[in-house]
Amino acid sequence: MLGPVHTPDPTARSGARAAVHRIPIALAVGDGIGPEIAAATRLVLEAAAAPLEFLEATIGERAYLGGVSSGIPEDAWQAIRTAGVLLKGPITTPQGGGYKSVNVTLRKVLGLFANVRPCTSHACVPGSRPGIDLVVVRENEEDLYAGIEHRQTPETYQCLKLVTRSGCERIVRYAFAYALANGRQRVTCMTKDNIMKMTDGLFHRVFDQVAAEHPGIAVDHHIIDIGAARVATRPEHYDVIVTMNLYGDIISDIAAEVAGSVGMGGSANIGARASMFEAVHGSAPDLAGKGVANPSGMLQSAVQMLVHLGLPLPAERIHNAWLRTLEDGVLTADLTSSGAVSTLGFAEAVAARLGQVPQTRAAVAYAASARIALPDIAPLPVELRERVGIDIFLYQVVQPQDLATRLLEVMGPGFAMTMITNRGVKVWPDGHPETLCTDHWRCRFLSTEIEAVPFAQILALIGRLDAAGFDIIKTEGLFRFAGKPGYSAGQGT
Ligand code: NAD
Repeated sequence: MLGPVHTPDPTARSGARAAVHRIPIALAVGDGIGPEIAAATRLVLEAAAAPLEFLEATIGERAYLGGVSSGIPEDAWQAIRTAGVLLKGPITTPQGGGYKSVNVTLRKVLGLFANVRPCTSHACVPGSRPGIDLVVVRENEEDLYAGIEHRQTPETYQCLKLVTRSGCERIVRYAFAYALANGRQRVTCMTKDNIMKMTDGLFHRVFDQVAAEHPGIAVDHHIIDIGAARVATRPEHYDVIVTMNLYGDIISDIAAEVAGSVGMGGSANIGARASMFEAVHGSAPDLAGKGVANPSGMLQSAVQMLVHLGLPLPAERIHNAWLRTLEDGVLTADLTSSGAVSTLGFAEAVAARLGQVPQTRAAVAYAASARIALPDIAPLPVELRERVGIDIFLYQVVQPQDLATRLLEVMGPGFAMTMITNRGVKVWPDGHPETLCTDHWRCRFLSTEIEAVPFAQILALIGRLDAAGFDIIKTEGLFRFAGKPGYSAGQGT
């Protein structure tokens, strides 16, 4: 299912505004440079007679300071639900104080699983590397952005990386559907599955499976570190990049910067029931209130929004006028050291060029854009899942051999202690004396029985360790899925 799609009203082009059915969209201008770039974007949308009704929503810093810790008050949720579409300026997340990121909340609460970030070069923009025409399709809900973090010991902090098979499949299928709908030739996957074999490995495996269903599209996979380096040095190699949440965030900023400025990139956040459009950059507090920020990123996201709403004509008028404006050398201060125009001046220049097309490159045409059907993900076949043991994490200031000796004394029957790791590295048995050990230990106990181990037996083991004075931080169940271990080995084993 797509988000709301409306049939364009031809009167929108003729200027007969009174008769036009207006599509409601929620508009949150945001913080820092947000109000300035939002005003510029709105000026262009109105000049292009885009048939929109703006429902203003206050989210971000003002809401935080008003005591709403999520940054999104109820009336803003109401506007977003009514419209189903949000055009958003960047938000400042205050440091400390337990404030939640509005962006992450919106993406996750509204199920905006796909973050689509196109990036092109502009010959007229100084420093823009030629030949860039790529789109980053970033998974938007999972990965390290789950926000599940803990301080476990005086020394050690943890952030959980959660990745689901359905989440990987949804974004990978979306990337291929996007490629097909937009005449793209290649989809490149980026992961770090040489290290994170289970989480990133799952993403890569799902990519390979979905790629096999699309023989007409060229595919490849790059480890994220070399992939990021190549986006910086050979961006012309890339067409569609599909990747995980954190990597996608980094890669898209690199691509936007290499194409000229992080201020140029727009993004669409797409879900089954709602969508959100915003620039890739942040609230740039260093520029706020100066009237110098580049509004292009938010304007580009508004173009993506118009296409998504089924309004290709105002979308292509604005996009072509924007290209022509850049071509005419009308540039903001991030793109030129002399003769820069203001944020508003740039918007007025775009508005003045509505109806014009670029001279040095092909005009953009969205009219023929195919709709991207959101993928339906089939449930997994049921697999036999058996509990076979437990990893027990301990806070202890101790030497590995002493810890092992004490644990073996109290462990009791039914389990074998197969390893102890410190920060993931195996330190017992057969550890290396050079390994630096902190106060955070993982001790693996596997059942000595062939059958699955009852949870009561695990609880009894935990109880014995607790009674013996071990400081248990947390436990992690060990399972076999269809006979295969669902856990990684220790490093150095
Ligand atoms: P930033 O993107 O705001 O700024 C990075 C650099 O790029 C700065 O030098 C800035 O001046 C420049 N820049 C950014 N946008 C520009 C534009 N439109 N025109 C010209 N120059 C521009 O990143 P940051 O400084 O790391 O973050 C500032 C705040 O923004 C933080 O509170 C962060 O949490 C927030 N943020 C919000 C979003 C969002 O709302 N989607 C995204 C990223 C960061």
